[in-house]
Amino acid sequence: MRNREQQVATSVLVIGTGGSGLRAGIELAENGTDVIVVGKRRKTDAHTTLAAGGINAALATMDPEDSWQQHAADTLSESYLLADPDTVRVVTEGASDSIRDLERFGMQFARESDGRISQRYFGAHTFRRTAFAGDYTGLELQRTLVARAERLRIPMLDSVYITKLLVRDGVIFGAFGFDVNDGTHYAIHADAIILASGGHTRIWRRTSSRRDENTGDSFRLALDAGERIRDPELVQFHPSGLIEPEDSAGTLVSEAARGEGGILRNALGERFMQRYDPRRMELSTRDRVALGAYTEIKEGRGTPRGGVWLDVSHLPRVQIMDRLPRVYQTVMELQLRDITTEPIEVAPTAHYSMGGVWVRSEDHSTDIEGLYVIGEASSGLHGANRLGGNSLIELLVYGKIAALAAARYSAALTAQQRSATAVSGARDEVLRLLGSAGKENVRFLQRAVRNTMTDYCGVVRDENGLRTGLSQIADIDSRVDDIAVHPDLTGYADLAHAFDLKASILAARATLECALERRETRGCHNRSDYPETNPALQVNLVWSGPGKITHEPVGVVPQQISDRMHDVSTAGKLAE
Ligand SMILES: Cc1cc2nc3c(=O)[nH]c(=O)nc-3n(C[C@H](O)[C@H](O)[C@H](O)COP(=O)(O)OP(=O)(O)OC[C@H]3O[C@@H](n4cnc5c(N)ncnc54)[C@H](O)[C@@H]3O)c2cc1C
Repeated sequence: MRNREQQVATSVLVIGTGGSGLRAGIELAENGTDVIVVGKRRKTDAHTTLAAGGINAALATMDPEDSWQQHAADTLSESYLLADPDTVRVVTEGASDSIRDLERFGMQFARESDGRISQRYFGAHTFRRTAFAGDYTGLELQRTLVARAERLRIPMLDSVYITKLLVRDGVIFGAFGFDVNDGTHYAIHADAIILASGGHTRIWRRTSSRRDENTGDSFRLALDAGERIRDPELVQFHPSGLIEPEDSAGTLVSEAARGEGGILRNALGERFMQRYDPRRMELSTRDRVALGAYTEIKEGRGTPRGGVWLDVSHLPRVQIMDRLPRVYQTVMELQLRDITTEPIEVAPTAHYSMGGVWVRSEDHSTDIEGLYVIGEASSGLHGANRLGGNSLIELLVYGKIAALAAARYSAALTAQQRSATAVSGARDEVLRLLGSAGKENVRFLQRAVRNTMTDYCGVVRDENGLRTGLSQIADIDSRVDDIAVHPDLTGYADLAHAFDLKASILAARATLECALERRETRGCHNRSDYPETNPALQVNLVWSGPGKITHEPVGVVPQQISDRMHDVSTAGKLAE
Protein backbone atom coordinates (compact mmCIF):
# COMPACT_ATOMS: atom_id res chain seq x y z
CA MET A 1 0.00 0.00 0.00
CA ARG A 2 1.35 3.46 -0.92
CA ASN A 3 -0.07 6.49 0.85
CA ARG A 4 -0.10 10.04 -0.41
CA GLU A 5 2.81 12.04 0.98
CA GLN A 6 2.54 15.68 1.94
CA GLN A 7 5.76 17.72 1.92
CA VAL A 8 5.70 20.66 4.33
CA ALA A 9 8.40 23.16 5.32
CA THR A 10 8.56 25.62 8.18
CA SER A 11 11.12 27.35 10.37
CA VAL A 12 10.03 25.72 13.65
CA LEU A 13 7.88 22.62 14.05
CA VAL A 14 6.15 22.18 17.41
CA ILE A 15 5.08 18.62 18.20
CA GLY A 16 2.18 18.73 20.66
CA THR A 17 -0.97 20.82 20.88
CA GLY A 18 -1.23 20.71 24.68
CA GLY A 19 -0.49 23.71 26.89
CA SER A 20 3.28 23.67 26.31
CA GLY A 21 3.16 23.25 22.53
CA LEU A 22 0.55 25.96 22.08
CA ARG A 23 2.41 28.38 24.33
CA ALA A 24 5.57 27.88 22.28
CA GLY A 25 3.64 28.24 19.01
CA ILE A 26 2.12 31.53 20.16
CA GLU A 27 5.51 32.98 21.10
CA LEU A 28 6.96 31.99 17.74
CA ALA A 29 4.07 33.54 15.82
CA GLU A 30 4.18 36.74 17.88
CA ASN A 31 7.90 36.86 17.18
CA GLY A 32 7.25 36.63 13.43
CA THR A 33 8.78 33.15 13.07
CA ASP A 34 7.17 30.65 10.73
CA VAL A 35 5.69 27.82 12.80
CA ILE A 36 3.48 24.74 12.43
CA VAL A 37 2.02 22.93 15.44
CA VAL A 38 1.01 19.28 15.14
CA GLY A 39 -0.67 16.84 17.51
CA LYS A 40 -2.11 13.37 17.42
CA ARG A 41 -5.44 14.19 19.06
CA ARG A 42 -7.91 17.09 18.92
CA LYS A 43 -6.29 20.31 20.10
CA THR A 44 -9.34 21.23 22.17
CA ASP A 45 -9.04 17.95 24.05
CA ALA A 46 -5.30 17.68 24.80
CA HIS A 47 -4.30 16.17 28.15
CA THR A 48 -3.82 19.70 29.51
CA THR A 49 -7.61 20.14 29.60
CA LEU A 50 -7.74 17.69 32.53
CA ALA A 51 -5.74 19.92 34.88
CA ALA A 52 -7.97 21.04 37.66
CA GLY A 53 -6.49 22.89 40.59
CA GLY A 54 -4.34 25.71 39.31
CA ILE A 55 -1.10 27.40 38.27
CA ASN A 56 1.61 28.61 40.63
CA ALA A 57 3.24 32.02 40.60
CA ALA A 58 4.36 34.18 43.50
CA LEU A 59 2.05 37.05 42.50
CA ALA A 60 1.63 37.88 46.19
CA THR A 61 -1.96 38.93 45.58
CA MET A 62 -3.10 37.21 48.79
CA ASP A 63 0.09 36.95 50.83
CA PRO A 64 2.33 39.98 50.23
CA GLU A 65 5.33 38.25 51.86
CA ASP A 66 5.48 35.71 49.05
CA SER A 67 8.41 35.82 46.61
CA TRP A 68 9.79 33.79 43.73
CA GLN A 69 12.66 32.82 46.05
CA GLN A 70 10.20 31.21 48.48
CA HIS A 71 8.43 29.46 45.60
CA ALA A 72 11.86 28.14 44.53
CA ALA A 73 12.64 26.98 48.07
CA ASP A 74 9.29 25.15 48.36
CA THR A 75 9.82 23.48 44.97
CA LEU A 76 13.30 22.29 45.92
CA SER A 77 12.20 20.99 49.34
CA GLU A 78 9.32 19.06 47.79
CA SER A 79 11.66 17.53 45.19
CA TYR A 80 13.63 15.60 47.82
CA LEU A 81 16.68 17.53 46.57
CA LEU A 82 16.61 16.10 43.05
CA ALA A 83 15.25 19.17 41.22
CA ASP A 84 17.75 21.20 39.23
CA PRO A 85 18.18 24.50 41.14
CA ASP A 86 18.71 26.53 37.99
CA THR A 87 15.57 25.15 36.31
CA VAL A 88 13.67 25.93 39.50
CA ARG A 89 14.99 29.50 39.46
CA VAL A 90 14.04 30.04 35.81
CA VAL A 91 10.48 28.79 36.36
CA THR A 92 9.76 30.53 39.65
CA GLU A 93 11.34 33.80 38.58
CA GLY A 94 9.50 33.80 35.25
CA ALA A 95 6.15 32.65 36.64
CA SER A 96 4.51 36.06 37.23
CA ASP A 97 5.24 37.23 33.68
CA SER A 98 3.70 34.02 32.34
CA ILE A 99 0.48 34.69 34.25
CA ARG A 100 0.43 38.22 32.85
CA ASP A 101 0.80 36.78 29.34
CA LEU A 102 -2.22 34.58 30.02
CA GLU A 103 -4.22 37.60 31.16
CA ARG A 104 -3.23 39.31 27.92
CA PHE A 105 -4.47 36.26 25.96
CA GLY A 106 -7.82 36.54 27.76
CA MET A 107 -7.66 33.79 30.40
CA GLN A 108 -10.51 34.07 32.91
CA PHE A 109 -8.86 33.66 36.32
CA ALA A 110 -10.87 33.57 39.53
CA ARG A 111 -10.61 37.04 41.12
CA GLU A 112 -11.22 38.73 44.43
CA SER A 113 -13.93 41.40 44.61
CA ASP A 114 -11.34 44.16 44.02
CA GLY A 115 -10.11 42.51 40.83
CA ARG A 116 -6.94 40.87 42.16
CA ILE A 117 -6.25 37.36 40.86
CA SER A 118 -7.29 34.96 43.65
CA GLN A 119 -4.65 32.56 44.87
CA ARG A 120 -5.14 29.51 47.05
CA TYR A 121 -3.04 27.05 49.01
CA PHE A 122 -1.97 24.00 47.11
CA GLY A 123 0.21 21.18 48.47
CA ALA A 124 3.39 22.11 50.30
CA HIS A 125 3.41 25.83 49.46
CA THR A 126 4.39 28.27 52.20
CA PHE A 127 1.95 30.88 50.88
CA ARG A 128 -1.20 31.06 48.79
CA ARG A 129 0.21 31.20 45.27
CA THR A 130 -1.96 29.00 43.08
CA ALA A 131 -4.05 30.94 40.57
CA PHE A 132 -7.05 29.07 39.21
CA ALA A 133 -10.23 29.08 37.16
CA GLY A 134 -12.74 27.13 39.26
CA ASP A 135 -11.72 23.47 39.14
CA TYR A 136 -11.41 23.71 35.35
CA THR A 137 -8.07 25.53 35.15
CA GLY A 138 -6.62 23.27 32.45
CA LEU A 139 -9.70 23.53 30.30
CA GLU A 140 -9.69 27.33 30.53
CA LEU A 141 -5.94 27.43 29.84
CA GLN A 142 -6.29 25.25 26.76
CA ARG A 143 -9.31 27.25 25.54
CA THR A 144 -7.36 30.49 25.94
CA LEU A 145 -4.25 29.20 24.14
CA VAL A 146 -6.21 27.63 21.27
CA ALA A 147 -8.16 30.87 20.79
CA ARG A 148 -4.97 32.95 20.80
CA ALA A 149 -3.24 30.57 18.36
CA GLU A 150 -6.25 30.72 16.04
CA ARG A 151 -6.26 34.50 16.16
CA LEU A 152 -2.58 34.44 15.16
CA ARG A 153 -3.53 32.03 12.33
CA ILE A 154 -0.99 29.45 13.41
CA PRO A 155 -1.36 26.31 11.28
CA MET A 156 -2.39 23.54 13.71
CA LEU A 157 -2.61 20.02 12.33
CA ASP A 158 -4.11 18.01 15.16
CA SER A 159 -4.44 14.65 13.44
CA VAL A 160 -0.77 14.16 12.55
CA TYR A 161 1.08 11.42 14.42
CA ILE A 162 4.85 12.00 14.40
CA THR A 163 6.75 8.73 14.16
CA LYS A 164 10.33 9.96 13.81
CA LEU A 165 12.51 13.03 14.21
CA LEU A 166 14.69 13.55 11.16
CA VAL A 167 18.33 14.04 12.08
CA ARG A 168 21.51 14.37 10.05
CA ASP A 169 24.91 14.32 11.78
CA GLY A 170 23.41 15.26 15.14
CA VAL A 171 21.40 18.18 13.67
CA ILE A 172 17.61 18.15 13.41
CA PHE A 173 16.04 18.88 10.04
CA GLY A 174 12.41 17.83 10.43
CA ALA A 175 10.02 15.05 11.37
CA PHE A 176 8.01 12.32 9.69
CA GLY A 177 4.48 11.21 10.45
CA PHE A 178 1.08 10.28 9.14
CA ASP A 179 -2.49 11.52 9.36
CA VAL A 180 -4.47 9.34 11.78
CA ASN A 181 -7.65 9.85 9.75
CA ASP A 182 -6.64 9.20 6.16
CA GLY A 183 -3.08 7.83 6.44
CA THR A 184 -1.44 10.65 4.43
CA HIS A 185 2.28 10.68 5.12
CA TYR A 186 3.84 13.92 6.29
CA ALA A 187 7.49 14.79 5.65
CA ILE A 188 7.92 18.06 7.52
CA HIS A 189 11.17 19.96 7.03
CA ALA A 190 12.04 22.37 9.80
CA ASP A 191 15.12 24.21 11.07
CA ALA A 192 14.21 23.46 14.66
CA ILE A 193 11.78 21.25 16.55
CA ILE A 194 10.12 21.83 19.88
CA LEU A 195 8.98 18.51 21.30
CA ALA A 196 5.97 18.99 23.56
CA SER A 197 4.48 15.52 23.40
CA GLY A 198 3.73 14.75 27.05
CA GLY A 199 4.77 12.08 29.55
CA HIS A 200 4.55 8.29 29.95
CA THR A 201 1.96 7.59 32.67
CA ARG A 202 -0.32 5.66 30.31
CA ILE A 203 2.02 2.67 30.60
CA TRP A 204 0.35 1.77 33.91
CA ARG A 205 -3.03 0.03 34.07
CA ARG A 206 -4.53 2.70 36.27
CA THR A 207 -3.68 6.18 35.10
CA SER A 208 -5.18 9.64 35.12
CA SER A 209 -4.32 9.85 31.39
CA ARG A 210 -6.75 8.81 28.73
CA ARG A 211 -6.36 6.15 26.07
CA ASP A 212 -4.01 7.61 23.49
CA GLU A 213 -2.14 10.17 25.55
CA ASN A 214 1.09 9.93 27.55
CA THR A 215 2.17 6.71 25.86
CA GLY A 216 5.85 7.64 26.12
CA ASP A 217 6.18 9.06 22.59
CA SER A 218 8.51 11.81 23.80
CA PHE A 219 10.94 9.20 25.14
CA ARG A 220 10.91 7.19 21.93
CA LEU A 221 11.20 10.13 19.55
CA ALA A 222 14.01 11.73 21.56
CA LEU A 223 16.01 8.57 22.24
CA ASP A 224 15.75 7.50 18.62
CA ALA A 225 17.17 10.90 17.61
CA GLY A 226 20.14 10.40 19.95
CA GLU A 227 18.86 12.20 23.06
CA ARG A 228 18.85 10.97 26.68
CA ILE A 229 16.14 10.47 29.30
CA ARG A 230 16.48 11.78 32.86
CA ASP A 231 14.85 10.15 35.94
CA PRO A 232 12.13 8.15 34.13
CA GLU A 233 11.54 6.14 37.35
CA LEU A 234 10.25 9.23 39.18
CA VAL A 235 6.52 9.00 38.56
CA GLN A 236 3.93 10.56 40.81
CA PHE A 237 1.06 8.28 41.85
CA HIS A 238 -2.14 9.98 42.91
CA PRO A 239 -3.90 8.14 45.78
CA SER A 240 -7.40 8.08 44.34
CA GLY A 241 -8.22 6.89 40.85
CA LEU A 242 -11.46 5.17 39.93
CA ILE A 243 -11.33 1.38 39.57
CA GLU A 244 -14.01 1.11 36.92
CA PRO A 245 -15.14 1.18 34.19
CA GLU A 246 -12.06 -0.63 32.95
CA ASP A 247 -11.41 1.72 30.04
CA SER A 248 -11.43 4.73 32.40
CA ALA A 249 -9.57 3.03 35.24
CA GLY A 250 -7.48 5.58 37.09
CA THR A 251 -9.65 8.61 36.32
CA LEU A 252 -8.92 11.02 39.12
CA VAL A 253 -11.10 11.55 42.16
CA SER A 254 -9.91 14.95 43.32
CA GLU A 255 -8.05 15.23 46.59
CA ALA A 256 -10.73 17.73 47.49
CA ALA A 257 -12.85 14.66 48.39
CA ARG A 258 -10.48 13.96 51.29
CA GLY A 259 -10.08 17.65 52.01
CA GLU A 260 -13.81 18.02 52.52
CA GLY A 261 -13.81 15.20 55.09
CA GLY A 262 -13.83 12.02 52.98
CA ILE A 263 -12.83 8.88 54.88
CA LEU A 264 -10.67 6.06 53.56
CA ARG A 265 -11.49 2.47 54.59
CA ASN A 266 -10.19 -0.92 53.59
CA ALA A 267 -12.42 -3.92 52.83
CA LEU A 268 -12.51 -4.77 56.56
CA GLY A 269 -14.02 -1.37 57.27
CA GLU A 270 -10.83 -0.14 59.00
CA ARG A 271 -9.86 3.51 58.68
CA PHE A 272 -6.41 2.47 57.53
CA MET A 273 -4.65 5.87 57.49
CA GLN A 274 -4.46 5.33 61.27
CA ARG A 275 -1.57 2.97 60.45
CA TYR A 276 0.32 5.35 58.13
CA ASP A 277 -0.25 8.85 59.49
CA PRO A 278 -2.40 8.83 62.65
CA ARG A 279 -2.03 12.56 63.10
CA ARG A 280 -3.08 13.79 59.68
CA MET A 281 -5.10 10.71 58.64
CA GLU A 282 -6.77 11.34 55.24
CA LEU A 283 -5.20 14.82 55.07
CA SER A 284 -1.72 13.34 54.89
CA THR A 285 0.50 14.02 51.85
CA ARG A 286 -0.21 12.47 48.49
CA ASP A 287 2.72 10.04 48.52
CA ARG A 288 1.79 8.77 52.02
CA VAL A 289 -1.87 8.23 51.22
CA ALA A 290 -0.93 6.48 47.96
CA LEU A 291 1.52 4.30 49.88
CA GLY A 292 -1.15 3.51 52.51
CA ALA A 293 -3.80 2.52 49.98
CA TYR A 294 -1.27 0.53 47.96
CA THR A 295 -0.08 -1.40 51.03
CA GLU A 296 -3.64 -2.25 52.14
CA ILE A 297 -4.45 -3.63 48.71
CA LYS A 298 -1.14 -5.49 48.37
CA GLU A 299 -1.50 -7.09 51.82
CA GLY A 300 -4.97 -8.44 51.06
CA ARG A 301 -7.14 -5.91 52.86
CA GLY A 302 -8.40 -4.31 49.65
CA THR A 303 -11.73 -4.81 47.92
CA PRO A 304 -12.15 -7.87 45.65
CA ARG A 305 -11.51 -5.60 42.65
CA GLY A 306 -8.26 -4.34 44.16
CA GLY A 307 -9.23 -1.01 45.69
CA VAL A 308 -10.13 0.76 48.92
CA TRP A 309 -13.22 2.81 49.81
CA LEU A 310 -13.28 6.59 49.80
CA ASP A 311 -16.47 7.67 51.50
CA VAL A 312 -18.04 11.13 51.47
CA SER A 313 -21.63 9.94 51.95
CA HIS A 314 -21.66 11.08 55.60
CA LEU A 315 -21.22 14.70 54.45
CA PRO A 316 -24.30 16.88 53.89
CA ARG A 317 -25.54 16.48 50.31
CA VAL A 318 -25.44 20.24 49.80
CA GLN A 319 -21.74 20.32 50.76
CA ILE A 320 -20.94 17.60 48.23
CA MET A 321 -22.87 19.33 45.46
CA ASP A 322 -21.32 22.66 46.30
CA ARG A 323 -17.69 21.67 46.94
CA LEU A 324 -17.24 18.44 44.95
CA PRO A 325 -19.36 18.95 41.83
CA ARG A 326 -16.76 17.51 39.46
CA VAL A 327 -16.29 14.36 41.56
CA TYR A 328 -20.07 13.90 41.78
CA GLN A 329 -20.42 14.38 38.03
CA THR A 330 -17.52 12.09 37.09
CA VAL A 331 -18.70 9.16 39.24
CA MET A 332 -22.30 9.63 38.10
CA GLU A 333 -21.27 9.73 34.43
CA LEU A 334 -18.80 6.84 34.49
CA GLN A 335 -20.45 4.54 37.04
CA LEU A 336 -24.03 5.79 37.44
CA ARG A 337 -23.39 5.93 41.18
CA ASP A 338 -24.40 8.64 43.63
CA ILE A 339 -21.51 9.57 45.95
CA THR A 340 -23.92 11.28 48.33
CA THR A 341 -25.24 7.84 49.29
CA GLU A 342 -22.44 5.33 48.58
CA PRO A 343 -18.65 5.16 48.86
CA ILE A 344 -16.29 5.37 45.89
CA GLU A 345 -13.95 2.47 45.11
CA VAL A 346 -10.47 3.87 44.40
CA ALA A 347 -6.84 2.81 44.01
CA PRO A 348 -3.56 4.67 43.40
CA THR A 349 -3.21 5.86 39.82
CA ALA A 350 -0.15 6.88 37.76
CA HIS A 351 -0.50 10.62 37.40
CA TYR A 352 2.56 12.60 36.36
CA SER A 353 6.00 11.96 34.79
CA MET A 354 8.48 13.95 36.86
CA GLY A 355 11.39 12.76 34.77
CA GLY A 356 11.59 13.17 31.01
CA VAL A 357 13.88 14.07 28.17
CA TRP A 358 17.22 15.56 29.24
CA VAL A 359 17.36 19.33 28.62
CA ARG A 360 19.52 22.32 29.51
CA SER A 361 18.07 24.63 32.12
CA GLU A 362 18.75 27.85 30.22
CA ASP A 363 16.56 27.18 27.18
CA HIS A 364 15.53 23.48 27.17
CA SER A 365 17.84 22.76 24.29
CA THR A 366 19.25 19.22 24.04
CA ASP A 367 22.28 17.31 22.75
CA ILE A 368 20.70 17.36 19.29
CA GLU A 369 21.23 20.69 17.57
CA GLY A 370 17.89 22.37 16.88
CA LEU A 371 15.86 20.11 19.22
CA TYR A 372 14.12 21.62 22.26
CA VAL A 373 11.85 19.77 24.69
CA ILE A 374 9.20 21.33 26.94
CA GLY A 375 6.28 20.50 29.25
CA GLU A 376 5.73 17.08 30.80
CA ALA A 377 8.01 15.64 28.12
CA SER A 378 11.00 17.40 29.69
CA SER A 379 12.74 17.08 33.06
CA GLY A 380 14.52 19.06 35.74
CA LEU A 381 11.89 20.92 37.75
CA HIS A 382 10.22 18.34 39.95
CA GLY A 383 12.85 15.88 41.19
CA ALA A 384 11.25 13.08 43.23
CA ASN A 385 8.01 14.89 44.01
CA ARG A 386 6.10 17.56 42.12
CA LEU A 387 4.77 20.55 43.96
CA GLY A 388 1.07 20.73 43.00
CA GLY A 389 0.40 23.41 40.38
CA ASN A 390 4.00 23.57 39.15
CA SER A 391 3.57 21.71 35.89
CA LEU A 392 1.26 24.25 34.26
CA ILE A 393 3.57 27.12 35.13
CA GLU A 394 6.60 25.22 33.87
CA LEU A 395 5.07 24.62 30.48
CA LEU A 396 4.22 28.30 30.14
CA VAL A 397 7.64 29.60 31.21
CA TYR A 398 9.69 27.19 29.13
CA GLY A 399 7.21 27.25 26.25
CA LYS A 400 8.14 30.89 25.78
CA ILE A 401 11.88 30.52 26.46
CA ALA A 402 12.34 27.52 24.16
CA ALA A 403 10.33 29.23 21.42
CA LEU A 404 12.61 32.27 21.47
CA ALA A 405 15.71 30.07 21.52
CA ALA A 406 14.41 28.01 18.57
CA ALA A 407 13.56 31.20 16.67
CA ARG A 408 17.08 32.55 17.23
CA TYR A 409 18.60 29.24 16.19
CA SER A 410 16.53 29.13 13.00
CA ALA A 411 17.33 32.73 12.12
CA ALA A 412 21.06 32.09 12.51
CA LEU A 413 21.10 28.91 10.42
CA THR A 414 22.89 29.43 7.11
CA ALA A 415 21.90 26.14 5.50
CA GLN A 416 19.70 23.16 6.29
CA GLN A 417 21.40 19.83 5.66
CA ARG A 418 18.83 17.16 4.82
CA SER A 419 19.16 13.44 4.43
CA ALA A 420 17.13 11.44 1.92
CA THR A 421 18.23 8.29 3.72
CA ALA A 422 16.75 9.49 7.00
CA VAL A 423 13.44 10.37 5.31
CA SER A 424 13.18 7.06 3.48
CA GLY A 425 14.08 5.19 6.68
CA ALA A 426 11.20 6.92 8.46
CA ARG A 427 8.83 6.24 5.57
CA ASP A 428 9.87 2.57 5.44
CA GLU A 429 9.21 2.15 9.13
CA VAL A 430 5.62 3.32 8.65
CA LEU A 431 5.15 1.15 5.56
CA ARG A 432 6.59 -1.89 7.30
CA LEU A 433 4.16 -1.55 10.16
CA LEU A 434 1.29 -0.96 7.74
CA GLY A 435 2.15 -4.22 6.05
CA SER A 436 2.20 -6.17 9.32
CA ALA A 437 -0.14 -9.13 9.25
CA GLY A 438 1.13 -11.20 12.15
CA LYS A 439 -0.84 -12.95 14.84
CA GLU A 440 -0.21 -10.62 17.79
CA ASN A 441 -2.83 -8.07 18.76
CA VAL A 442 -1.52 -4.56 19.52
CA ARG A 443 -4.16 -3.81 22.14
CA PHE A 444 -3.36 -7.06 23.90
CA LEU A 445 0.36 -6.25 24.01
CA GLN A 446 -0.35 -2.71 25.25
CA ARG A 447 -2.40 -4.25 28.00
CA ALA A 448 0.47 -6.63 28.82
CA VAL A 449 2.87 -3.67 29.22
CA ARG A 450 0.43 -1.93 31.53
CA ASN A 451 -0.09 -5.07 33.61
CA THR A 452 3.66 -5.56 33.96
CA MET A 453 4.26 -1.98 35.05
CA THR A 454 1.38 -2.13 37.53
CA ASP A 455 2.48 -5.43 39.02
CA TYR A 456 6.23 -4.76 39.21
CA CYS A 457 6.85 -1.01 39.06
CA GLY A 458 3.98 0.59 40.96
CA VAL A 459 3.95 2.58 44.17
CA VAL A 460 6.34 0.15 45.91
CA ARG A 461 9.17 -1.59 44.06
CA ASP A 462 11.85 -4.19 44.78
CA GLU A 463 14.75 -5.81 42.97
CA ASN A 464 13.02 -9.13 42.20
CA GLY A 465 9.89 -7.46 40.90
CA LEU A 466 11.78 -5.00 38.74
CA ARG A 467 13.86 -7.80 37.21
CA THR A 468 10.70 -9.80 36.53
CA GLY A 469 9.20 -6.67 34.95
CA LEU A 470 12.23 -6.25 32.70
CA SER A 471 12.11 -9.82 31.49
CA GLN A 472 8.36 -9.53 30.78
CA ILE A 473 8.95 -6.33 28.81
CA ALA A 474 11.68 -8.08 26.80
CA ASP A 475 9.19 -10.86 26.04
CA ILE A 476 6.52 -8.38 24.93
CA ASP A 477 9.09 -6.56 22.81
CA SER A 478 10.03 -9.78 21.05
CA ARG A 479 6.40 -10.19 19.99
CA VAL A 480 6.10 -6.76 18.39
CA ASP A 481 7.55 -8.01 15.09
CA ASP A 482 4.54 -10.29 14.79
CA ILE A 483 1.74 -7.76 15.21
CA ALA A 484 -1.10 -7.09 12.81
CA VAL A 485 -2.04 -3.56 11.73
CA HIS A 486 -5.33 -3.05 9.92
CA PRO A 487 -6.21 0.48 8.86
CA ASP A 488 -9.82 0.62 7.73
CA LEU A 489 -12.51 3.04 6.69
CA THR A 490 -12.57 4.53 10.18
CA GLY A 491 -8.92 5.59 9.89
CA TYR A 492 -5.40 4.72 10.89
CA ALA A 493 -5.89 4.37 14.64
CA ASP A 494 -4.47 0.86 14.46
CA LEU A 495 -1.19 2.19 13.08
CA ALA A 496 -1.12 4.86 15.79
CA HIS A 497 -1.62 2.18 18.44
CA ALA A 498 1.30 0.21 17.02
CA PHE A 499 3.59 3.23 17.41
CA ASP A 500 2.13 3.91 20.86
CA LEU A 501 3.06 0.34 21.77
CA LYS A 502 6.66 0.76 20.62
CA ALA A 503 6.94 3.96 22.64
CA SER A 504 5.38 2.37 25.72
CA ILE A 505 7.79 -0.55 25.62
CA LEU A 506 10.76 1.79 25.44
CA ALA A 507 9.40 3.99 28.24
CA ALA A 508 8.72 0.91 30.37
CA ARG A 509 12.27 -0.34 29.91
CA ALA A 510 13.77 3.05 30.82
CA THR A 511 11.57 3.27 33.90
CA LEU A 512 12.28 -0.26 35.12
CA GLU A 513 16.03 0.03 34.59
CA CYS A 514 16.31 3.32 36.45
CA ALA A 515 13.97 2.11 39.21
CA LEU A 516 16.35 -0.82 39.63
CA GLU A 517 19.37 1.48 39.68
CA ARG A 518 17.84 3.81 42.29
CA ARG A 519 18.50 1.57 45.28
CA GLU A 520 16.88 3.84 47.84
CA THR A 521 13.52 5.28 48.87
CA ARG A 522 13.09 8.92 47.95
CA GLY A 523 9.86 10.86 47.41
CA CYS A 524 7.60 8.99 45.04
CA HIS A 525 10.10 6.15 44.62
CA ASN A 526 9.59 3.49 47.31
CA ARG A 527 11.94 0.50 47.37
CA SER A 528 10.82 -2.05 49.97
CA ASP A 529 14.33 -3.58 49.84
CA TYR A 530 16.00 -0.18 50.31
CA PRO A 531 13.64 1.71 52.66
CA GLU A 532 16.11 4.52 53.47
CA THR A 533 17.17 7.55 51.45
CA ASN A 534 20.78 7.17 50.33
CA PRO A 535 22.69 10.50 50.24
CA ALA A 536 25.03 9.03 47.59
CA LEU A 537 22.01 8.77 45.29
CA GLN A 538 21.16 12.43 45.43
CA VAL A 539 21.79 12.38 41.69
CA ASN A 540 19.75 12.32 38.52
CA LEU A 541 19.78 9.06 36.59
CA VAL A 542 20.34 9.57 32.89
CA TRP A 543 19.31 6.73 30.57
CA SER A 544 20.67 6.54 27.05
CA GLY A 545 19.31 3.16 25.98
CA PRO A 546 19.04 -0.36 27.41
CA GLY A 547 21.71 -0.98 30.03
CA LYS A 548 23.15 2.53 29.77
CA ILE A 549 22.66 4.67 32.88
CA THR A 550 24.89 7.42 34.21
CA HIS A 551 24.65 9.36 37.48
CA GLU A 552 24.46 13.12 36.99
CA PRO A 553 25.20 15.35 39.98
CA VAL A 554 22.49 17.79 41.01
CA GLY A 555 23.46 21.48 41.06
CA VAL A 556 24.10 23.38 44.27
CA VAL A 557 21.20 25.32 45.77
CA PRO A 558 22.14 29.04 46.15
CA GLN A 559 22.18 30.19 49.75
CA GLN A 560 19.43 32.80 49.29
CA ILE A 561 17.14 29.85 48.42
CA SER A 562 18.47 27.20 50.81
CA ASP A 563 17.97 29.61 53.73
CA ARG A 564 14.25 29.55 52.98
CA MET A 565 13.88 25.76 52.66
CA HIS A 566 11.81 24.25 55.43
CA ASP A 567 9.16 21.59 55.98
CA VAL A 568 5.79 22.98 55.05
CA SER A 569 2.62 21.70 56.64
CA THR A 570 0.18 20.33 54.07
CA ALA A 571 -2.81 20.17 56.39
CA GLY A 572 -5.87 21.52 54.65
CA LYS A 573 -3.98 22.12 51.41
CA LEU A 574 -4.62 20.02 48.38
CA ALA A 575 -2.77 19.22 45.21
CA GLU A 576 -3.67 17.60 41.92
C1 LIG B 1 -6.51 15.09 36.26
C2 LIG B 1 -5.28 15.97 36.19
C3 LIG B 1 -5.21 17.13 36.94
C4 LIG B 1 -4.08 17.94 36.87
N1 LIG B 1 -4.07 19.12 37.58
C5 LIG B 1 -3.01 19.95 37.49
C6 LIG B 1 -3.01 21.19 38.17
O1 LIG B 1 -3.98 21.57 38.84
N2 LIG B 1 -1.91 21.99 38.07
C7 LIG B 1 -0.81 21.62 37.34
O2 LIG B 1 0.16 22.38 37.31
N3 LIG B 1 -0.80 20.44 36.67
C8 LIG B 1 -1.87 19.60 36.70
N4 LIG B 1 -1.86 18.42 36.00
C9 LIG B 1 -0.71 18.12 35.13
C10 LIG B 1 -0.79 18.91 33.81
O3 LIG B 1 -2.11 18.92 33.35
C11 LIG B 1 0.10 18.33 32.72
O4 LIG B 1 1.36 18.06 33.20
C12 LIG B 1 0.23 19.28 31.54
O5 LIG B 1 -1.03 19.67 31.08
C13 LIG B 1 1.04 18.68 30.41
O6 LIG B 1 1.01 19.55 29.30
P1 LIG B 1 1.92 19.28 28.03
O7 LIG B 1 1.67 20.36 27.05
O8 LIG B 1 3.32 19.05 28.43
O9 LIG B 1 1.40 17.89 27.45
P2 LIG B 1 -0.03 17.40 26.97
O10 LIG B 1 -1.13 18.30 27.38
O11 LIG B 1 -0.08 15.98 27.38
O12 LIG B 1 0.06 17.50 25.40
C14 LIG B 1 0.83 16.60 24.65
C15 LIG B 1 0.55 16.84 23.18
O13 LIG B 1 1.44 16.05 22.40
C16 LIG B 1 0.72 15.39 21.38
N5 LIG B 1 1.46 14.17 21.01
C17 LIG B 1 1.91 13.18 21.82
N6 LIG B 1 2.57 12.27 21.09
C18 LIG B 1 2.55 12.69 19.80
C19 LIG B 1 3.05 12.18 18.57
N7 LIG B 1 3.72 11.02 18.51
N8 LIG B 1 2.81 12.88 17.44
C20 LIG B 1 2.12 14.04 17.47
N9 LIG B 1 1.63 14.58 18.61
C21 LIG B 1 1.85 13.90 19.75
C22 LIG B 1 -0.64 15.15 22.00
O14 LIG B 1 -1.63 14.90 21.01
C23 LIG B 1 -0.84 16.47 22.74
O15 LIG B 1 -1.30 17.44 21.84
C24 LIG B 1 -2.97 17.57 36.06
C25 LIG B 1 -3.04 16.39 35.33
C26 LIG B 1 -4.17 15.60 35.37
C27 LIG B 1 -4.22 14.35 34.55
